[in-house]
Amino acid sequence: MAISELLARQRTLSFEFFPPKTPWGQKQLNQAIAELSQLDVSFVSVTTGAGGSSHEPTKQQVLDLVPNHSFEVMAHVTCAQHSRSQIASLMDDYEAGGVENILALAGDPPQDGSSMAGEFSFASELVEEIRRHPHSFAVGVAAHPEVHPSSASRELDRRFLAQKLSAADFAITQFFFDASYYFRLVEELAALGCGKPVIPGVMPVTSPGRVKHFADMNGTEIDSILWERLEQADAGDKMSIAVEAAHKLCAELLQFGAPGLHFYTMNQSEASLRLCRALGL
Ligand code: FAD
Repeated sequence: MAISELLARQRTLSFEFFPPKTPWGQKQLNQAIAELSQLDVSFVSVTTGAGGSSHEPTKQQVLDLVPNHSFEVMAHVTCAQHSRSQIASLMDDYEAGGVENILALAGDPPQDGSSMAGEFSFASELVEEIRRHPHSFAVGVAAHPEVHPSSASRELDRRFLAQKLSAADFAITQFFFDASYYFRLVEELAALGCGKPVIPGVMPVTSPGRVKHFADMNGTEIDSILWERLEQADAGDKMSIAVEAAHKLCAELLQFGAPGLHFYTMNQSEASLRLCRALGL
């Protein structure tokens, strides 16, 4: 089912995973998915790297998940290293595999330094190309509550986002630690005439070092008091602090009327499970 349809029916609950590189990683992911399946999961999504070598593992992971689960599986697709004909053929494969939902992204620069060159520069062009496919996929896009770091200005960022999102079905945000960034984003989009659902992305900070690295890349402001507490805590306390902080954020988002919650899991289940139980989801 299309995620847009799920969003129209009820608040969604979703989880993001990355395709593992090793058999051990695959085992860990399978276990995380089995544990999270105890919840009322609306959909999961599978990331992809912008380097060409990661396209195939994402496709395989998505196509393996679809027949084995009752929740929807959304494939991330990036502009990077894709031609128009490659996107058409990828969409053929996803249609044949029963995939209904695509997240269309520009892509992060690959860590191995490989080129991002392809036939598309911006995610909005990818949305247009996916719309040309004969199968009618539901299309999601990325939104950046704290403004995308390469944007020339806040105003331009919001204008491009409103255009992109108007052509898509929904957005999922980059993670953030202060709910007011999300509230402002939704209000600014509404002021531009865009009322499409924007699902907040939530990152429980169980690995402060790794999350800080992503936050630096995305221009996400970290909560220095939270980081100080996490850095001083032992492993057991770290998990409780991470869940408590994410719980407070989620409660504010739900109170505001967020259409769903999307958790960045890093292929781990414990924090998301504890958080969802604490939220009564
Ligand atoms: P775009 O919408 O193309 O925007 C990029 C920049 O260009 C922005 O500054 C925007 O304002 C500007 N812009 C847009 N249109 C125009 C235009 N017409 N003219 C001039 N400027 C314009 N990355 C990955 O590599 N793999 C993933 O799986 C992945 N998953 C993600 C999932 C989520 C939920 C999110 C929020 C991000 C994800 N990312 C992923 C990261 C994302 O690819 C990067 O943040 C990337 O730098 C921007 O992607 P975008 O789709 O928002 O780009």
